[in-house]
Amino acid sequence: MNQPNPLAGIPAPEVLIVDDDADEVYCDGGSRALGHPAVWYSFDGRSRVTCQYCDREFIKRSHSTLSV
Ligand SMILES: [Zn+2]
Repeated sequence: MNQPNPLAGIPAPEVLIVDDDADEVYCDGGSRALGHPAVWYSFDGRSRVTCQYCDREFIKRSHSTLSV
């Protein structure tokens, strides 16, 4: 018997760590069911960018507080 997952259907923003020398990141919604048109985001001197479609955050490795 399958119990419904109360968290299912609530999309939590993901955080992706990228290399410090990356200038651009690519997002198309990735593994999520809700994909979106492929877009490139430029860091343009910043340490992080947020996808306007799926709220994913891309953070440069040295600026991340996550231990990966
Ligand atoms: Zn996205």
